Amino acid sequence: MTAHWQEQVSLKAYNTFGIDVKARYFFQAHSDAEVRAALAEAQQCNVPVFVLGGGSNLLLTRDIDALVLHMASRGQRVLLDDGSRVVVEAEAGEPWHPFVQSTLAKGFSGLENLSLIPGTVGAAPMQNVGAYGVEIKDVFAGLTALDRETGEVRDFALEECAFGYRDSVFKRNPGRWLILRVRFALSRALQAHLDYGPVRQRLVEQGIEQPTAQAISDAICSIRREKLPDPAELGNAGSFFKNPVVPAAVAERIRAQHPGVVAYAQADGQVKLAAGWLIEQAGWKGYRDGDAGVHRLQALVLVNHGQASGAQLHDLARRIQADIYERFGVELEMEPNLY
Ligand code: FAD
Ligand code: NAP
Repeated sequence: MTAHWQEQVSLKAYNTFGIDVKARYFFQAHSDAEVRAALAEAQQCNVPVFVLGGGSNLLLTRDIDALVLHMASRGQRVLLDDGSRVVVEAEAGEPWHPFVQSTLAKGFSGLENLSLIPGTVGAAPMQNVGAYGVEIKDVFAGLTALDRETGEVRDFALEECAFGYRDSVFKRNPGRWLILRVRFALSRALQAHLDYGPVRQRLVEQGIEQPTAQAISDAICSIRREKLPDPAELGNAGSFFKNPVVPAAVAERIRAQHPGVVAYAQADGQVKLAAGWLIEQAGWKGYRDGDAGVHRLQALVLVNHGQASGAQLHDLARRIQADIYERFGVELEMEPNLY
């Protein structure tokens, strides 16, 4: 190992579940050069590398016997501004929500529905982050990534990322691509997406008929703050399960037994079921076993009330999966990355 690496570092402050596991080695990379040097040194010492952003989409169940490479690169720049279209590039280690706010402050719209998502710019393409009817694929203008197999730096265009629902080529090839910076196609003219969940209603309540991008962002932040636990106060990784997308016949079978099922038809004829609704119906909302629990306001969010281990949370998740399968015949897939 090198003199720059710290040893036996607790990751409690580096994951939003607040799980207290240790990294064998830990290094914060502030630039491409530091990323490259750390990867080369790790290879020389035969130490595996684990890339960490904000730790908000992780469930850590054991110590990490590797070099944890924490992405801490900062910076953003406007690459194009023709008076209406804008392309902004941001470094991987930029914290996501402050980046979104800084684009809004410059008068650029496009990221407002993705406000208040924790984590970093570099991790956002991993699962094609999405909220309130917008995913980053909708505003994506490219990214630059390092191929950890060959050491080459390469640009990815939209069609090369295979973005899907909480999915991408990067997520499907874990450990291969290290994302260095991401580009976003934004606009000076707002194209508002208000028809998802309670967004429009919230703006109406505030007396706003012609919202700006900043007003949409503020409304979404207020909705999220009411419903979602703040990781600084209660450990969590956001939605713990993906919403299952099932054949229409399966959704119809469930609807016949549960007329209130929350379900959304997809363009391909399948139906997306709200996993939170299934879990709530099964009686898990607010459940607690020791310090591992299900949030009292949002059944899709597992929480750490203090000292829960990753294994305890994983065990709770598996019990919920088995119960939902038994009751509804539907398999729930975990969303956070499990280590
Ligand atoms: P991490 O958890 O650090 O890493 C996630 C994965 O990406 C890991 O496998 C890691 O190895 C890898 N990775 C990290 N950085 C890089 C990089 N630069 N290059 C290559 N691989 C990398 N998600 C949504 O989609 N929509 C939401 O609305 C949403 N709301 C949330 C609300 C709360 C309260 C919380 C706690 C989470 C929420 N999330 C949401 C999940 C999470 O915030 C996002 O997925 C976020 O993009 C994860 O970023 P991160 O930097 O924390 O990633
Ligand atoms: P919500 O508004 O209560 O809605 C419940 C579920 O129904 C959501 O999962 C959402 O699916 C779906 N839905 C709602 N309106 C829809 C529409 N018009 N068309 C299709 N699907 C619709 O959900 P919430 O938990 O408060 O979250 C609000 C938004 O923030 C959602 O988009 C959610 O994905 C996102 N969010 C994500 C995370 C995470 O960690 N991934 C955490 C918190 C919030 P979708 O999830 O597919 O949008």
